[in-house]
Amino acid sequence: MLIDCHMHCFPDKLAAGTMEKLSAICGTVPNTDGTLQGTLDFIDRSGLDAGIMLPIATSAHSQRNVNDFAWKAQAESKGKLFAFGSVHPFAPDAIEELHRIAEMGIRGIKLHPDYQDFYFQDTRCYPIYEEISALGLVLTIHAGFDPVSPNDIHAPVSALVQVAQDFPKLTLIGAHMGGLGFGAEPDKRIFDLPNVWFDTAVLPSCYKGRESLFAEHLRRRGADHILFGTDCPWDTVENIQDFLERQDLSGNILDQIYYKNAQELLHIHPGL
Ligand SMILES: [Zn+2]
Repeated sequence: MLIDCHMHCFPDKLAAGTMEKLSAICGTVPNTDGTLQGTLDFIDRSGLDAGIMLPIATSAHSQRNVNDFAWKAQAESKGKLFAFGSVHPFAPDAIEELHRIAEMGIRGIKLHPDYQDFYFQDTRCYPIYEEISALGLVLTIHAGFDPVSPNDIHAPVSALVQVAQDFPKLTLIGAHMGGLGFGAEPDKRIFDLPNVWFDTAVLPSCYKGRESLFAEHLRRRGADHILFGTDCPWDTVENIQDFLERQDLSGNILDQIYYKNAQELLHIHPGL
């Protein structure tokens, strides 16, 4: 079984424009057309059993629509795509929206500080983290470099360490192994904190030229905290699997990463 914990798609009427804009920023050719149907096709042709779509509320006024779309996409996917929600940390009704998300039965929240224009360690966001934790939702945070603001890292590894320590009951998923493009070697304490999980979204880019670091991080953290993810449409299942399968990992470790951890942490059961 294979579950992708990091996917993106957009409402049909926004998909083409959004993909054009994001492709120009990323300098990458996307692997879907950005629509729900395109994402379901990606799931089928890539041998995935299910995926999690991570929406991003880029403004206070869009958060409700973003979450309604995510919820509708989940319903239409017939057990193939599971939705996270998103809030804008500075939206006046962010707390209210978190409650609405939890009531919908959504399992987690995605925040992307580069696209939402905040710094993850900003204590003005702490009431949001507090509520996410209290509602029993998990929080996936885009971590490290992002091409939209290449010279300004909005969620460096140090910020993840700070927030995870300040909210020990919060389940935090650091996307891109906790810090895309680490720069200097990351603060390794991130791999010791029990409430921090990691996803493998665009994994080859995370460790470009330094592939041996991955094995070291995996050993330090343990495979039980690593979730398979692609960042569809920005990378493929094949690329991520090729990277992982070069690491000489046991079948059991691969199973943990490929689906067991997602089932346990996020209660993802494809087809249901
Ligand atoms: Zn992503």
